[in-house]
Amino acid sequence: MPRPIVASISISALQHNLAVARAHAPGAKAWGVVKANAYGHGLERAMRGFAQADGLALIEVDYAVRLRELGWKKPILLLEGFFDADDLPLLARHDIQFAVHCNEQIAMLEAFATEAGLHAHLKMNSGMNRLGFKPDVYRAAYERLKQIASVRSVTMMTHFANADDAGNPDLSLQEQVKRFNAGTQGLVGPKSLCNSAADLLHGELAFDWVRPGIMLYGGTPGGGSAADFGLRPAMTLESKIIGVQDIAPGEAVGYGSRFVADKPMKVGVVACGYADGYPRHAPNGTPVVVDGVKTGTIGRVSMDMMAVDLTGVPGAGIGSHVLLWGEGLPIDEVAFAAGTIGYELMCALAPRVAVREV
Ligand code: PLP
Repeated sequence: MPRPIVASISISALQHNLAVARAHAPGAKAWGVVKANAYGHGLERAMRGFAQADGLALIEVDYAVRLRELGWKKPILLLEGFFDADDLPLLARHDIQFAVHCNEQIAMLEAFATEAGLHAHLKMNSGMNRLGFKPDVYRAAYERLKQIASVRSVTMMTHFANADDAGNPDLSLQEQVKRFNAGTQGLVGPKSLCNSAADLLHGELAFDWVRPGIMLYGGTPGGGSAADFGLRPAMTLESKIIGVQDIAPGEAVGYGSRFVADKPMKVGVVACGYADGYPRHAPNGTPVVVDGVKTGTIGRVSMDMMAVDLTGVPGAGIGSHVLLWGEGLPIDEVAFAAGTIGYELMCALAPRVAVREV
């Protein structure tokens, strides 16, 4: 018998969430962001779920090629571009578009002779200070790229640090837009700015292409509830109770004895641990649903199992159903309790967890 932990992935939720992203950005084309194995949902599954997307965007060259092998015919974009001149023949052969964020990459393109038409996305560092050209040197980079015979199109792009918190005093969305506009002034060509939060909250910035990721999987990009935007969870993680302990006041649970009972309690042991992707640092009380009743974790999460409080769950015992996140328990609620974000939980789903499509 396999362990009872299963992740269900809903293709119809992926389809539905893509439609929500599109509805918020009418007129724009949509990349479905599928990096990190489609945020843990599986590349091939996401490809089917996002069949209606205008393109798929990711950062892994090998996975980009895999999409072509799987039969994806529409555009593919490498959001972090390429890192080595040796990548270029592969990108040209498979018609994979790419971000360009530094002069070293432009030099590689200048030295690369190809008959293929290349499509570059020139990244501006509008304040996040990760990748990209600062606004004052952006035009020079743009013009240098445009000189390269094989480069058929250049899309102007930037990425927001705080689209979910537009008024952030350290870097507002408006300030990033201002810098983007200043750096691209007078340049004519397609533009791409929006991640999920900007897609949902700032449709006026949709321009030519939006790049939603987390919302497509039914997670919120920060704050708020995904359900309020009509998003459906695409991943549901479930398991079962595999052990029960009745404990007396003063008895401790798990490694480090981080939980000590102050009353008689019934403890359920769940087949799910940090080696499945559940966050080890989840504190006591992180929500779980057992047989339809919401309760909480107790003690430290171990590699293969974790404990939950069954004291208030009548009839629960070995074999009881445990919902860890997904349909019926928002992943963002679990992530918030555990001091992380839904993105991290989805991406951390371990390969050993059985996946079922629903
Ligand atoms: N665009 C770029 C350049 C990204 O790096 C990402 C992901 O971090 C996205 C879009 C999608 O972001 P989100 O998942 O917040 O929608």
